[in-house]
Amino acid sequence: IGMSPTVLSAENITVAFGGFVAVNGMNLALRQHELHFLIGPNGAGKTTMLDVICGKTKPAAGRVLLGDGLEITRKRDYEIAGLGVGRKFQAPSIFPSLSVKENLELTVDSDRSVLRALKVRRNRCTTFEMKKVLELIGLPDRLHVRAGSLSHGEKQWLEIGMLLLQKPRLLLLDEPVAGMTDEETMKTGELLQGIAKECSVVVVEHDMEFVRSFAAKVTVMHEGKLLKEGSMQEIQRDPLVAEVYLGK
Ligand code: ADP
Repeated sequence: IGMSPTVLSAENITVAFGGFVAVNGMNLALRQHELHFLIGPNGAGKTTMLDVICGKTKPAAGRVLLGDGLEITRKRDYEIAGLGVGRKFQAPSIFPSLSVKENLELTVDSDRSVLRALKVRRNRCTTFEMKKVLELIGLPDRLHVRAGSLSHGEKQWLEIGMLLLQKPRLLLLDEPVAGMTDEETMKTGELLQGIAKECSVVVVEHDMEFVRSFAAKVTVMHEGKLLKEGSMQEIQRDPLVAEVYLGK
């Protein structure tokens, strides 16, 4: 049986802030179209791992490879974005005074300096692709609404849409359902399933109920290290994982 190609290998990543080691020899690998959750207690180093992959933080040791061996460890964040790595932070970064359509078009039509500042890559996209993304994020009838007047969930989806229009090979999402209603969380679950058909996705997540609703691979981090990797069922049976969560 052929395995799908590797999209990301982060190997032996170590990050220190001053004397404090936030990530300590961590590994993370993803295949094409894989949806992968990164969980673990507060302070485990999850967000820092995403920061390393997208180039926001430089590791003291280790390397990050895209595809079958393109090393990006020392590349700038906008260069990494240009190679198809999309990063979404917890707070939605959209332009509230622009319409949904204008926000989406920004990532497609802007000139190089704007794209650099936005850390997105320029991408020509067809009307068909725009329509497909709008349907995926569930906002096809909100095109002309001011982005600032969208609900919290809708803002998050809009930002995901802006990332999708760049045709990423890898999306990094930091707690996408934080602050969402149950209904918004459910819709985001469907959205993630849809996105995984287009690219690979790493999701840092605190909501265990939410993670459980997917048949996805889960990596547990603890104190900067890989504690356990497997299905949610395997993770939940692991006494070490239970200890880390209960001991919190
Ligand atoms: P998680 O996302 O798992 O909650 P983080 O990656 O945000 O964990 O943080 C890991 C550890 O590194 C925490 O103890 C945090 O306080 C520390 N940390 C994160 N960013 C910085 C920074 N810029 N400077 C100093 N310490 C940091």
